[in-house]
Amino acid sequence: MANVAATSFTMTIDGAAAPTAASLPVRNPATGEVFAEAPDATADDLDRAVAAATRAFATWKNVPIAERKAALISAAGIIEAHADELAALFVKEQGRPYPGAKGEVLGGAMWMKATTMLDIPIDVTEETDTRRIEVHHVPLGVVCGIVPWNFPVLLAVWKIAPAIMAGNTLVLKPSPFTPLTTLRIAELIRDCFPAGVLNVIAGGDALGPLMTAHKGFAKISFTGSTATGRRVMESAAKDLKRITLELGGNDAAIVLPDVDVDTVAEQLFEGAFHNTAQVCVATKRLFIHADIYDQVRDRLHELAKATPVGDGAEQGNRYGPIQNEAQYRRVLGLLDDARANGLTLLEGGDVPQRGYFVPLTLVDNPPDDSRVVVEEAFGPVLPLLKWTDVDDVVARANDTEYGLAGAVWSANIEKATEIAHRLDTGTVWINQNLQSTPFTPLAGAKQSGFGQENGLAGLLEFTRPKSIFIPKQPAGTAPEAAGAAS
Ligand code: NAD
Repeated sequence: MANVAATSFTMTIDGAAAPTAASLPVRNPATGEVFAEAPDATADDLDRAVAAATRAFATWKNVPIAERKAALISAAGIIEAHADELAALFVKEQGRPYPGAKGEVLGGAMWMKATTMLDIPIDVTEETDTRRIEVHHVPLGVVCGIVPWNFPVLLAVWKIAPAIMAGNTLVLKPSPFTPLTTLRIAELIRDCFPAGVLNVIAGGDALGPLMTAHKGFAKISFTGSTATGRRVMESAAKDLKRITLELGGNDAAIVLPDVDVDTVAEQLFEGAFHNTAQVCVATKRLFIHADIYDQVRDRLHELAKATPVGDGAEQGNRYGPIQNEAQYRRVLGLLDDARANGLTLLEGGDVPQRGYFVPLTLVDNPPDDSRVVVEEAFGPVLPLLKWTDVDDVVARANDTEYGLAGAVWSANIEKATEIAHRLDTGTVWINQNLQSTPFTPLAGAKQSGFGQENGLAGLLEFTRPKSIFIPKQPAGTAPEAAGAAS
């Protein structure tokens, strides 16, 4: 913990700037150097944020949904208007080259607006002459949002927009590796909401566990690794907090022999290496049919060698560094393990010698039980795996504890769709990848998640059902005999 001069980024608590005594260094992953300080919240700051959110909930839950939507739409407009400033900050703390950084900021604003196109239904489960049963979806209370560093803005919006629109109030925590853009967004949009509706706090490793244990939260919406997700679930169990967990993945893409290699190679490459392969739904195991294996491998290797990787602030770089030192060391460890086991590594072009850079690397047909295949690399190391039999490759693709997404590539869409149905994942793409929409749930299977985000189903995770039995007879008349509650 660095006790240094005041930071220019403030937390948002109760609608106002909330300075902290302590701060944490934020590093530029392209250089490894500290370039800013972020607030480091204490347990008292957390208490104040939860208390403000609790007070705000008492009125926000009764504000008509049209007004809640209008507040989000105006916040989205402010984010859009500051996209250049936010993108420049994003590049410095996250490492991604500027066009992708700006794309995420604008994508976050778009997502915030699009979420307001959803509506919270009132379901009618019975309508007779004697009664009507309505199921309302009412807000939960104060929501705790925790997000990782790979898509800091978009993943924060995936919590801010549905939580607030559904009538909850929120205390959001960005990753200690990428706190600044989120803090800045909260500074910009805090006046769009009544005080206490949106609170953003930042801190080090101790803050997340303090939040999940805090009794003031009704729900935890968490995005991060599976290992942390398990800890969050354990902590939430103590007082039965509702949880949504969006966790890790080890996605398979299956390439059939009928594809046109030149057409799909670039898409396969981007599907694996987008954001320097730090994408939960990136292709992390690429199964290529034996008939075209050598051709696809060689084409991907050419792309890896030709793709510029470097500081995201410099024009022309397509991919940036690994976002933080711990993740960088993890990826280096996977590469060391691959080398120690005699695996063949096909490296891309040169990368800068400072900062957290790793060359884009393909691993040529490693055994299925090698670490580089079994573990989620979350960095630019892609195992290429040869296959010949459809049943066998489906079994291999499903042979993982994860189940986030997957892809099938073929000229025969019907055949690809059949295979898609056999993959045990929450999402499958055919001849595309990395797609998600504000109207489609993202829901990990197996150890990739619990619950879902996006779409109506994701929105309703920020509510609870409340069934109201409304008689059509005057009071005192006999209740409906059938279906009397037990
Ligand atoms: P992480 O689990 O280390 O951290 C995520 C967040 O949790 C951070 O804000 C961190 O400070 C906080 N945290 C850490 N320990 C905590 C604890 N004990 N209690 C509460 N909070 C805690 O993950 P990461 O390294 O930041 O992100 C990478 C992982 O996130 C990858 O596994 C990736 O696949 C996954 N991810 C999943 C999705 C999805 O939608 N399924 C999206 C993006 C990333």
